[in-house]
Amino acid sequence: MPHESCTFCQIINRELPASIIHEDEKVIVIVDLYPVNEGHLLIIPKVHNSEMRAVNSETLQHAMQLAQQMNVALRKSNIPCDGVNLFVADGEAAGQEIFHFHLHVFPRFIGDGFGFRYDRARHFKKSQRIRMDEIAAELKIKLKL
Ligand SMILES: [Zn+2]
Repeated sequence: MPHESCTFCQIINRELPASIIHEDEKVIVIVDLYPVNEGHLLIIPKVHNSEMRAVNSETLQHAMQLAQQMNVALRKSNIPCDGVNLFVADGEAAGQEIFHFHLHVFPRFIGDGFGFRYDRARHFKKSQRIRMDEIAAELKIKLKL
């Protein structure tokens, strides 16, 4: 996707409006236009990359530190917030809709009705140790590549 048509690049370039909470040389933090719950925030690196793997690691660390600070700010605020979710949708199969990497931070409260949908017959079935060990071994190797 060309950057000119990227919603987040347009927000960063002040071509679209946003409610900005924080901005520095690496990231911008805005209020989500379509929140899971009120207080839903997006932490967006200023450099356009669609995939998480392409994001500068210092920028990612900075984004996570800001997520912690935003978590604290949400809990101090008057916005209903009994808990906080962090969420990244990396790729279309993971639910990514805007292909400029971003980290969601959103408040949760008892009875908010939000949650992951899943099929008990397919998901959260207890794994076999032999398969878990195979997965661990493969990913250990990939980590070193
Ligand atoms: Zn962008």
